[in-house]
Amino acid sequence: MVFCTSCKSITLPSASERGGHHLHDEWISLEHSAEACELCRLFLDHLRANIEVSIVEEIVRLCTDHQRPLKIPISAHYILGSFLPERRQELQETPSQKSHLSIACGPLTRNDEVNDDDDDDDNESSRSKLTADLLQRLPIYVAVPVYVYPGDPLSTSRVQIREPLNATSLDSEVLRKVRQWRSHCLTTHPECRPSNTRPRIYPSRLLDLRNVESTGTAQIVRTSPSFHHDYVALSYCWGAKYRRWLDYVKACQRDQDPWVEIDQMPQTLRDAVASTVALDFHYLWIDCLCILQGNKNDWLEEGSKMCEIYGNAALTLSASDSQDCRDGFVVVRTPLQREGIILPCLDEAGMMGSLHFCAPGTPFDEIVGRGPVARRAWCLQERQISRQVLHICRGEVFFECVRCLRHESERRPDDEFDPNDEWWRFHVSLESQGPNAFPRKPSPDVYNVLSWCGIVEDYSRRDLAFVEDKLAAIAGLARRAHRIMGSDYLAGLWTHRLHIGLAWQVPMDMRATRAPVYRAPSWSWASMDGPVSYDRSDGFVQSDDGFLESAIHLLDSSVSLMGSDPFGPVECVNITVSGRLAQIPSSDLLHNDILEYPAWMSGAAPQIGWHLEDEKRGLDTDDTITCLKVAVKPFGPGPSLPPTNSMLILERVEDHDRCHRSDGGDDSDDRAHPFPTYKRIGFGQVFVTDYFDDCPPMTITLI
Ligand SMILES: [Zn+2]
Ligand SMILES: [Zn+2]
Repeated sequence: MVFCTSCKSITLPSASERGGHHLHDEWISLEHSAEACELCRLFLDHLRANIEVSIVEEIVRLCTDHQRPLKIPISAHYILGSFLPERRQELQETPSQKSHLSIACGPLTRNDEVNDDDDDDDNESSRSKLTADLLQRLPIYVAVPVYVYPGDPLSTSRVQIREPLNATSLDSEVLRKVRQWRSHCLTTHPECRPSNTRPRIYPSRLLDLRNVESTGTAQIVRTSPSFHHDYVALSYCWGAKYRRWLDYVKACQRDQDPWVEIDQMPQTLRDAVASTVALDFHYLWIDCLCILQGNKNDWLEEGSKMCEIYGNAALTLSASDSQDCRDGFVVVRTPLQREGIILPCLDEAGMMGSLHFCAPGTPFDEIVGRGPVARRAWCLQERQISRQVLHICRGEVFFECVRCLRHESERRPDDEFDPNDEWWRFHVSLESQGPNAFPRKPSPDVYNVLSWCGIVEDYSRRDLAFVEDKLAAIAGLARRAHRIMGSDYLAGLWTHRLHIGLAWQVPMDMRATRAPVYRAPSWSWASMDGPVSYDRSDGFVQSDDGFLESAIHLLDSSVSLMGSDPFGPVECVNITVSGRLAQIPSSDLLHNDILEYPAWMSGAAPQIGWHLEDEKRGLDTDDTITCLKVAVKPFGPGPSLPPTNSMLILERVEDHDRCHRSDGGDDSDDRAHPFPTYKRIGFGQVFVTDYFDDCPPMTITLI
């Protein structure tokens, strides 16, 4: 391997110094060096993978500016744990500690400011806003994971130790580990065992792989009521259209007794078959083969069983870093994937060892948290519902259950998640915990609702090939949540603590718009294309005091479903609530932002932070807007702050517009509606406590 002089001279002591190990004077020289030096190329890849493109462009522009080039140095800092250099003193040694090299882009302190010697205001104001923002953000740190092999002299220097990776992601050594992880999970984690109180519901069809090795074909079999075998489910990205394969499947499925040739399958599916057989299972569920192609009824029927299909699978295989069904996931690893970039390096005692650097996208958080499967909406519930997930990735194989995460290269297992731990509780509170599981407040039902809000946030950021699947692709999780919460489901929200569910907002720095075609009521997040978020910080307070209190009463709801699944797509959903409605002059509104504390402090008049979801819907200054108070937060975001009211911004709708569906029909709901009807057009917050006090309670229908 070829390294530049800067990289060659990296030692643990030099990278541990306060200023780090100086690599390059500026970005451009890193780019030049990366043409020959493999480590510089790796650093550049990491920086590019983790810094927004516009920021990188701005950095390059600034340091190549002919008039006033700015110096943005690049340095490397050895970090044990996950903190930045200034917090080094807080680090503690634990076996599971990760070590990495943090590549800093930019000067480390305000004092070694960029070489900006002329401070005159003309020049300052001529800087673009992007430049100003960028300078504020410097230095930008990007983590490059580093490790050593067992027995390396550097292993005594607290560098993370990893076992060498295997030659392929389905190596016999990998299979041995997977069997061991599975059996450890099943014998020591009660949470991961299949329920024996509920009857097991199977998918209608499975792929029978018992003859694969002798015939090269798999049979699509129907599961009879007496079927009781374990099966594996596949979670993957379908990717681009693959007509030829779907036509082939359709032709196979027409047979009474369908057989599928393995050679015809896209690579990801072939790899799933090979992995299932290698792990000694006989049955596999893959959506495109086990649901009838082009049969909408079968799709609705099987779709409504997703919770059971993944929840009852003995194991879910996740092709977590494959973009497309033709990518495959079982690979022969390249030397770089197996060993990383190996740099001879000195430790504090002057011993020479070998430091391994991982390529971008290698750690679990990057592959599974940000990879292709993590961006696909359907895959959220597939991962959440599954009891055991095996992520077979190019870089590494990972095993995940609700209690542990195991790595192919682990030297010793990480600590298991402690069921009493706050974090664990938050993430698995959708699992039934029993009434006394959490002696401390807030109560489990608050955790459950907040967990659901967290799921919605994650889900809303993912891609859907067909936006009309917005409710379908989360129906399995909703079904499971219903079992635990026992609450009624209303197009993505729960009747229990409905005021929390209604308080979603579009994040200020992101774009989301109302879906042009009806698929959910305006008060449901499912009516939006794009990310939504909830203020969930209250979930970490130690009691229910201070949590959102409801300001509405739900009097009635009507749900008209698209199919038969109560958690699936809807035709029309309305709620009737009583609450306080205020007509507020537009002049009381702050600009199109959710209210922030300093903004309120600066104005004597009641002022409201607000955001309209329907972007095209502007407001005139002499308009009044209708606001429904939905919740009160007894104290504000800081201890000395006044209570906050959360409210929906509404618009009156004539009765005949109740459901904006193209076919115009609303058969299930043709009663006369005695109450004024409104739709949600935005969300707002106001600090003033008595803002709604003069408004008598009213009953309205929200569509
Ligand atoms: Zn280099
Ligand atoms: Zn487990």
